[in-house]
Amino acid sequence: MFSIYLSKEILYYFCFVAALFGAAMGSFLNCAAWRIARGESFLTGRSRCPACGHPLGPVDLLPVLGWLLRRGRCHYCGAPVAPRYVLTECACAALTVLCLLRFDLSALCLRNYVFLCCLFCLSLVDLDSFIIPDGCLLLPALAWFAALPWCGLSARETVVHVLSALLCGGAMLALALLMDKLLQKESLGGGDIKLFALVALYLGPVGFLFALFFSCVLGLLFAAATRRGTGTPFPFGPAIAAACTCMLLFGQGLTAWYLSLLGL
Ligand SMILES: [Zn+2]
Repeated sequence: MFSIYLSKEILYYFCFVAALFGAAMGSFLNCAAWRIARGESFLTGRSRCPACGHPLGPVDLLPVLGWLLRRGRCHYCGAPVAPRYVLTECACAALTVLCLLRFDLSALCLRNYVFLCCLFCLSLVDLDSFIIPDGCLLLPALAWFAALPWCGLSARETVVHVLSALLCGGAMLALALLMDKLLQKESLGGGDIKLFALVALYLGPVGFLFALFFSCVLGLLFAAATRRGTGTPFPFGPAIAAACTCMLLFGQGLTAWYLSLLGL
């Protein structure tokens, strides 16, 4: 099988291409998230400046470079373009390179990249509108099943992953219903519960437990950083997505260590 680790030159070349592709993907995901949060279609229609509505030209649409060349302002009306765009493009470029380095050129890499992109997009939508779109959950779920013949899971492991998705999703739903009753308000959104089930499908039971723990820590930090009181709604999706991304890319050692403690 062709590997990016065959030589230094091949490795650098593929990382460079992945970074360019990732920046373009970040630009697309940002635009898609912006439109999904506003109930618009993200597949049709040209990108426009949110301030003046002017259609964006090829230079404006260049990931990262477009923002730098236009000095962070709209070319047509001069309105400042939020740094969020260039930051998300850089983050997505880094994510793409990390995914390639971790999984090499493989079906597993493609499957996990689809998942990472959907996690990225749903985080942006959740930050904007407190909604986790079903499409961002359905696509990675389908990708997981479609990639089964190539991702090296045994029949037993496949069953364990599917069962942990059902059980973890069910447990989170039961917990949310209990918390709703105790607190007399919605504690965990339906989108968060479905997202947790998807995380369990990808990471398995042990990876899920770590992701759950890290997402709670990140969620608390995020709530503290934005000084949100207990009464205000709070998007939990980005914290779950960030924890799951870290576990997917770097969590293998952590889960192996934990399983060795249990003697498995
Ligand atoms: Zn403008």
